[in-house]
Amino acid sequence: MKDTLKCILCQTDISENNFGLVILGRCICANCEQEITNLCWDDPDYDAYKRGLKKIWCFKEA
Ligand SMILES: [Zn+2]
Repeated sequence: MKDTLKCILCQTDISENNFGLVILGRCICANCEQEITNLCWDDPDYDAYKRGLKKIWCFKEA
């Protein structure tokens, strides 16, 4: 890992210790991965995370 990876949701630097998900080359820290996993569909926070993830899909299409 040459580049410093940052969580796209919370901007935390990602290392081997808190490595979570990689989606389309973008990373989510273990913490956020858990948050997403634990969120319910009607959780207000879910929308924010969903929007964050949507950005990734948009990048892909751009
Ligand atoms: Zn994070």
